[in-house]
Amino acid sequence: MTISSQRSTAPPAVSLSSLTMAYRTREGGEYTAVRNIDLTIPRGRFLSVVGPTGCGKSTILNAIAGLRTPSAGSVEIDGRMLGGLNKAAGYMFQSDALLPWMTVVDNVALGLQLRGVAAAERRNQAMAWLRRVGLAGFEKSYPHQLSGGMRKRTAVAQTWIVDPGILLMDEPFGALDVQTRQIMENELLALWTGSGKTVVFVTHDLDEAVSLSDEVVLLSAGPASTIVGRYEIDLPRPRDLMDIRTRPEFTEIYARIWSDLREEVMKTYERTARVDA
Ligand code: ADP
Ligand code: MG
Repeated sequence: MTISSQRSTAPPAVSLSSLTMAYRTREGGEYTAVRNIDLTIPRGRFLSVVGPTGCGKSTILNAIAGLRTPSAGSVEIDGRMLGGLNKAAGYMFQSDALLPWMTVVDNVALGLQLRGVAAAERRNQAMAWLRRVGLAGFEKSYPHQLSGGMRKRTAVAQTWIVDPGILLMDEPFGALDVQTRQIMENELLALWTGSGKTVVFVTHDLDEAVSLSDEVVLLSAGPASTIVGRYEIDLPRPRDLMDIRTRPEFTEIYARIWSDLREEVMKTYERTARVDA
């Protein structure tokens, strides 16, 4: 069997059908965050979701993670209806989820510990991951002793060590300074390349979305956001993020998506400005 025929028969990693997610408001009403989302993500794809603040990007990730049940529609993972927590997915947030009382190596090994892997084995694997993310020698440190970039590397190792097929990343590098962020983006791409893992990456930063992804999905301004644009990013790989942003193809696709995104951002701005007035 050739690779391409395998691809066409394998079920997609993630498939959202008419997904609607609503929240109960404090006043007892209902707020529909996203409505009728149809999105199929083939295995191994790096897909980013962009859209204005509050449009429901995190809500969609939570649905894929199985942290919230759909109000309507469905989430399928590897061809099977998701009925609870998505065990195939690893989740990375903007604020890293490191435990402050645990050393770096114990933080990285946490997922293996929860899966009942023996102490010696999980330490071996955690040490190997620390070397892989450039943190050899820091295993005995505590999270507060690390820089922002080092904490991010620890969080990456913590997420990847359990080998999830799907990575859900919610503005993971948003809190980093520009240079550290670019280094982390490069490292993420290096890890992902050839891994076969599916990445769903949420960011409000279009630049980041375009430079990392195979595809960018644009959500409309809320409430009841829907997908208003899907863009293939066919920039060549492997990509060097240090210079990709200066390529004319990059500038062109960026400008195309930005003109659509800008419209949605302005709608959100006008709505919130009215509320604030
Ligand atoms: P984004 O990640 O794109 O900024 P979110 O998915 O966090 O947006 O939120 C989408 C909308 O749903 C926002 O208007 C937000 O206020 C609302 N929302 C999110 N979580 C809750 C919740 N637990 N209860 C009520 N409303 C929520
Ligand atoms: Mg969010």
